[in-house]
Amino acid sequence: MSSAVRPRRVNGLAPPYTAAQISTWIFLPLLVLEFCFFVSPLLPLAASIPCTLAFGCFAISSAVFGFLAMKVDPKDPRLPNENNVTTTTRTTAPTYDPEEPTKQCWICDVQVGEKSMHCKFCNKCVDHFDHHCMWLNTCVGKANYHYFFRCMVSIAIMLVIQAVIQLALILDIYLGSGATKERAEGWFQADATIAVVVVMAIFLFFNLGSLSLIGQLLLFHIRLQRNGLSTYQYIVRDNQQRREKARMEDELTMRREMTIAHAKNEGKGCLSLRLEANGILRKQCGVTCCDPLKTEEEGKEAEMAPHSGGNGVSNGDGQALTISNGDEDDDGIDDESKETENV
Ligand SMILES: [Zn+2]
Ligand SMILES: [Zn+2]
Repeated sequence: MSSAVRPRRVNGLAPPYTAAQISTWIFLPLLVLEFCFFVSPLLPLAASIPCTLAFGCFAISSAVFGFLAMKVDPKDPRLPNENNVTTTTRTTAPTYDPEEPTKQCWICDVQVGEKSMHCKFCNKCVDHFDHHCMWLNTCVGKANYHYFFRCMVSIAIMLVIQAVIQLALILDIYLGSGATKERAEGWFQADATIAVVVVMAIFLFFNLGSLSLIGQLLLFHIRLQRNGLSTYQYIVRDNQQRREKARMEDELTMRREMTIAHAKNEGKGCLSLRLEANGILRKQCGVTCCDPLKTEEEGKEAEMAPHSGGNGVSNGDGQALTISNGDEDDDGIDDESKETENV
């Protein structure tokens, strides 16, 4: 298949636009308008100027970094320019390390960098591929990751400033000395307190929802950077770990069935009942601490535990079963990835 069959998306500003992208174009300007007409005028002058300046700076930086993240073409620099694509979509000349190992992309039909990936949405290989962002409607890679990250930081700070001020104003209207209420009446030339509170409450609701999403995304990317991983590498590693865990659980289920059969043959009713009960607990509730059977990973961790205190029980095949004291990790995933997984 040739990339000429389907055109390559140049950047996030090229159509077709996604619903998520258009929603940000509507929601972010609305946030700014709401701050200018409902929040800033209700603050005392001494607080209004610095708060509005701070909010404005982060609103502008969000827009600028978001625009740059969309405008920059993150394609692999080894890809030839298409006839209808000019190099003006890049802010800097495409460069790459000639020593970097390459691999063949059969869709682009060109040798690309080892860390490049072909994006099915953009139909091109992206240098140091991180992920395809539906909000920016473009791939995030080496060329625009820093703009993407700064855009996220700016939006998060902007949302925090707006949420804190709105919450303080709403509380002051109902619990304060009445100064905010007077400023609201003066600004709107009417008793518009309830309307102002309703508008601020609606925006606060969406604001906190957005903050929760973007806060999680930001923390996720901070942890990825600390671990030296891209989003794509994290997803690949996470999938591998899930598959490995599923494989070990399948093996454990087979081993449990054999052990129960042996226990029944030897008349060890209590052991077979216990194994059956622990198998159900493990599958239904994820409880593994009292299970005498362990996956390979759990077995290794139990051996390495300094005070495992395990009791050896024979399963009848000469294979030692470790009864755990329950203080080791029981999910078969290393701590580093588990930390990232909790994001
Ligand atoms: Zn490709
Ligand atoms: Zn893409």
